[in-house]
Amino acid sequence: MAEPSNKFFQLLAQAQHRLDESFAHLPSSPAPPLDEAAVTILNEVAVKLHDNYPYAHPLYAGQMLKPPHPIARAAYTLAMSVNPNNHALDGGRASSAMEIEAVAAIAKMFGWPEHLGHLTGGGTFANLEALWVAGHLAPGKSIAASDQAHYTHSRISSVLGLPFTEIPSDNTGRMDLLALEALLQTQNIGTVVVTLGTTAIGAVDPLDEILKLRQRYNFRIHVDAAYGGYFTLASNLSPQTRAAYDAIPQADSIVIDPHKHGLQPYGCGCILFRDPSVGRLYKHDSPYTYFSSKDLHLGEISLECSRAGASAVALWATQQLLPYSPGGTFAQNLESSHQAALELHRRLTSSPHFITPTARPELDIVFWAVNSANSQLSSALAQQIFDEAARHDLHLALATVPIRLFPSGTWPQAEQTETITCLRSVLMKPEHLAWIEQIWQRLTAAASASIAVNTPWELC
Ligand SMILES: *Cc1c(COP(=O)(O)O)cnc(C)c1O
Repeated sequence: MAEPSNKFFQLLAQAQHRLDESFAHLPSSPAPPLDEAAVTILNEVAVKLHDNYPYAHPLYAGQMLKPPHPIARAAYTLAMSVNPNNHALDGGRASSAMEIEAVAAIAKMFGWPEHLGHLTGGGTFANLEALWVAGHLAPGKSIAASDQAHYTHSRISSVLGLPFTEIPSDNTGRMDLLALEALLQTQNIGTVVVTLGTTAIGAVDPLDEILKLRQRYNFRIHVDAAYGGYFTLASNLSPQTRAAYDAIPQADSIVIDPHKHGLQPYGCGCILFRDPSVGRLYKHDSPYTYFSSKDLHLGEISLECSRAGASAVALWATQQLLPYSPGGTFAQNLESSHQAALELHRRLTSSPHFITPTARPELDIVFWAVNSANSQLSSALAQQIFDEAARHDLHLALATVPIRLFPSGTWPQAEQTETITCLRSVLMKPEHLAWIEQIWQRLTAAASASIAVNTPWELC
């Protein structure tokens, strides 16, 4: 497991000492010491925390979970001794300045010279702000997102009292352009949510094509790149995927989650608007001009009030070590995750045990079905292999997806509208590429064990 080394604690202690020195002139007022009771409690916590999957280990190749980088963990811990609140400058001057810089680095990565934006508790709240602004700019008009978009969009629309329209996806999981155009003609759509990297399968909606439709139909475009946003730095995407990413600068708003692919602890999402003047919508009864002022309080452009300044400190520190530059280490790590997904997909495609979907992985999510006579049995076997793999210390995920994502005729009896339970793997750690052989061996062992047990049943 990726345990922090003694060196980690040494460096942290040194930095903590540095920080404490600046307040050393104050009369001493020590924090409550950790006594015997605290030691017992901490040990109890450690035991309770055993009840988790080993998320940080490369053999955890299931859900969208990536350990924070040690520098993020150290910087967060350091900031916790101050516990800044980025709502107002009085609550965290240094961490607010770091947030402004860190958010500008994200905007720059997306090719925006100008922006309005800030960190949030996560992607959900960041998307809420995007749709809240969208609703103000197009009152009464509908929010539209594909049936593969994150379920948060229909829920947020309901919270905001905005109508919501679902757009069908095609057989690769991308938004169906013909269906979108038909809806633009017949419905009152104000904003289209374009997902660059769907959470279930990593499909990338064709933003470049959707932009062409914007020339004919007037609508706002919100890019939900909570999971996939950082892949804009990867140089090895397919031309079609690349074209969608290259169109990002023309969107109206973007959401990205540094706590997904940005090596941050949970509690770090980000919302960006291309037009800084939307800041006027946040105005509450504070007397000064917000966005020309050098002394912007982040709480004046955010719906959330108190927010962890430590999140901004951790993100800023991580960006200093691993800048968002094409070809740099951070970008290479994303490229290797995509490469790992292609490699696993290649092995799955040539295996007799499994069936792969029509589309190759666009980012770093792979999903596959178990080869069997009918879709019900395939779904049941996926569940068995999932359990059996865990007994081999390989932790995968399960996903229920539309059968139409697989080549037609795979399960001739199944209706086009049916779903199937698949195995799924998010290969988001840079180490995953080097671990593919290990992952593969455990997966095929688990599959052989599960399928062998079921074969007699399958034959009858
Ligand atoms: C994860 C995700 C969300 C929700 O973000 P949280 O950080 O979990 O609140 C929204 N949209 C997409 C595309 C996501 O991947």
